[in-house]
Amino acid sequence: MNFEEELLNRFHVFFNNVDLSSTYKPVFLKSIMDLSDFGKPGVVGSQWVEKVGNQLKVDLNFVVIRYAKYYWDMYYKFNLRQSHTPQDVNIHKFFGDKQDPHKPPTLTDLAEEKYETLRKEMISKSIKPQVLKRLNNDLCLYQIINGKNYILFDHNIIEFLKKYKGILIPAINFITTRYLEKINSSPRIAEKVLGKIPRSFLKPDEKKIIMKYHDSCFYCGKIEQDYAFDHVIPFDYIYQTDLFNMVPACTSCNGSKSNRLSTREFFNKVLERNKKIKELKDYSASWYENLYDKCKLEYHKGSFFSV
Ligand SMILES: [Zn+2]
Repeated sequence: MNFEEELLNRFHVFFNNVDLSSTYKPVFLKSIMDLSDFGKPGVVGSQWVEKVGNQLKVDLNFVVIRYAKYYWDMYYKFNLRQSHTPQDVNIHKFFGDKQDPHKPPTLTDLAEEKYETLRKEMISKSIKPQVLKRLNNDLCLYQIINGKNYILFDHNIIEFLKKYKGILIPAINFITTRYLEKINSSPRIAEKVLGKIPRSFLKPDEKKIIMKYHDSCFYCGKIEQDYAFDHVIPFDYIYQTDLFNMVPACTSCNGSKSNRLSTREFFNKVLERNKKIKELKDYSASWYENLYDKCKLEYHKGSFFSV
């Protein structure tokens, strides 16, 4: 077997047999995949990668910013459990409890000096003992030097990652999604794992449909010239924009609701409104109600928006 076949085989065994108990391994692996872009302009964290002879010397800071970004979004934005143990993945130990879900740090932010201490902590407490060795036991991708904060990749491994990136990344996303679906009932987990879906908005004709059934702010009744359109079940949970979940909101209500869930009272009002909208497609009231209950249970945990 040549080198490439052998490595493909290792990945094959890994993807088929891996029995995850958290998302650490696939997230670490996905963070490494960006090395296949090393040398191209604009790769964040390139200052931490150095070509030494026939190897790439990769400071773990390059990996940890990607790793931290994934967990930040999963924990603060989507509220998705990452492990079936009661402790879950303790990302808030590093970031604290006061993160605004609407202001996710970018990779560039995480590479800045102000995150240096956090990166150090995450490398030594989250990556080094837990993931670094175990993933290498499965895949043998890099060399670990005891006591050092970097790992070494042979040139042919990087070439391999470059060549097969297009199938490895979807496979990594697939095993991550499959695992997360076992421990979360949140909708559209695959899309949340992809993490690149832009927030969607109503089209002008859809706004007109909604306004046929309302003449004021859905929440406080205030009449305005222009309304914002609010997701009753928050966008970051439902991850789609559909007529049945949209209501007009005045600037003030829209601002203070943010990504919170509305109270049951408002939700009942939406259910009644939806009975009248003739234009609804693929809508089931019981499915929508069920989604509301799940959102309350696993996403909002009792924090509601009310006027
Ligand atoms: Zn209002």
